[in-house]
Amino acid sequence: MKTVIISNRLPVKIIEENDEYTFIPSEGGLATGLGDVYKSGNSIWIGWPGIEVPEERQEEVTQKLAELNLYPVFLTQNEINLYYEGFSNEVLWPVFHYVVTYAHFEQSYWDCYKSVNEKFAKRAMQVLQRKDKIWIQDYQLLLLPGILREKLPNATIGFFQHIPFPSYEIFRLIPWREEILNGLIGADLIGFHTYDDVRHFISTATRLLPVNSSSNVLNSNERQIVVEAFPMGIDYDKFSDLTATEKVKKEIDYFRTGKEEMKVILSIDRLDYSKGILERLKALELLLQAHPEYIGKIELFMIVVPSRDTVPQYSELRDQIDQFVGNLNARYRSINWIPVNYFYRSFPIEVLSALYATADICLVTPMRDGMNLVSKEYIASRNNNDGVLILSEMAGASKELTDAVIVNPNNLGDIMEAIVTALKMPLDEQQQRMKAMRAIVEKFNVKHWVNNFILRLNEVKDSQKSLLT
Ligand code: UDP
Repeated sequence: MKTVIISNRLPVKIIEENDEYTFIPSEGGLATGLGDVYKSGNSIWIGWPGIEVPEERQEEVTQKLAELNLYPVFLTQNEINLYYEGFSNEVLWPVFHYVVTYAHFEQSYWDCYKSVNEKFAKRAMQVLQRKDKIWIQDYQLLLLPGILREKLPNATIGFFQHIPFPSYEIFRLIPWREEILNGLIGADLIGFHTYDDVRHFISTATRLLPVNSSSNVLNSNERQIVVEAFPMGIDYDKFSDLTATEKVKKEIDYFRTGKEEMKVILSIDRLDYSKGILERLKALELLLQAHPEYIGKIELFMIVVPSRDTVPQYSELRDQIDQFVGNLNARYRSINWIPVNYFYRSFPIEVLSALYATADICLVTPMRDGMNLVSKEYIASRNNNDGVLILSEMAGASKELTDAVIVNPNNLGDIMEAIVTALKMPLDEQQQRMKAMRAIVEKFNVKHWVNNFILRLNEVKDSQKSLLT
């Protein structure tokens, strides 16, 4: 009996050199968390390898990936455009993050989303054995639980969604809303990051489908579906230990030299309109206007990781950020100081670790975020127990990290005040808050998250069986 994980992307980095593909397992949170089950050979992973592989080379890629227990689903460029960039990222992503005006309800996107979910199901059927546990990940595969349930009525199927689930009033706007929900309730256990997502899902399902609920259980056609919150954690030890490595120590020296008196505010996000990047910059501008005493004394270190920049809203956002940072720096800079150190690129983990370890403040202000791992990585990297996390109440992480300075990301004055509070916070208060948050991030780490989900999936299945006997 093995665990079969199915996600849009396989956890691999692909290197293409001299017409040769090499696949290196990636160390993303989920892959790390699944490490124990996964590396012992007790689990396999099905997903898209992340590139378009020509038909004549698919067999070769399949064989290479099989050595890593990975099973590819090959997607054509047209499928990537319509299913992934189209339906997943231009319909589900904006709607689930409450930015409905950005959604394109295109029939061709939906048709392709359905057929690609079918394609994943077909691939799964080739490798599944009767008693396997199936664990499906995220919003690209909302229909897959239902498709697999039809084929395997007794299968054990878990589903976890890594992004928010919106309120009924938002979800109901989607033209294909019933089909999506019917897909999801093919699972036995449905997990979200927060209890609010659970509530929204249950109220949406009971209003749109012929199902009823009692507490967190949905009853449909005599099958019970349990819906629960499983806040995802990170690999705490990895981030905590990294700061003591030689490579990271070097980076830390490099950042800190000449900046001993400077207060560094760190922000790290993927380019996304859900992350509140412009609002954060506006709050900084407000701070420099209202508190000129901080001019020359604080610095925002802002990393924006390129993402989805073929989608118009993302390239527009990028232009707006470029413009805002340019204006702000031009207005406030001096010969040896600029307010915003802005990078539009990704960095190796050693650099991220050094930044987490050195920044006095980490400013995380998404408009909506399923969880937000950056905030947890900052906490895990603060081995001295100092530093202040400013965290949006719209991030799933704010439900656990209640010792952060919590802000409403729409309220620029609130963010500005929070920065001032953080700049003035006495060391003992910083330490008290940081210790409490570190204890939470350490305990509820990613391994705990994986084990907890699998444990609940087993329990749910057992209780279904006992209901039948
Ligand atoms: N990250 C990265 N390279 C970078 C900057 C960030 O790999 O240059 C990682 C970061 O460590 C974190 C992830 O990207 O694990 C971002 O996750 P989060 O949940 O904060 O946001 P998401 O991008 O998933 O919406």
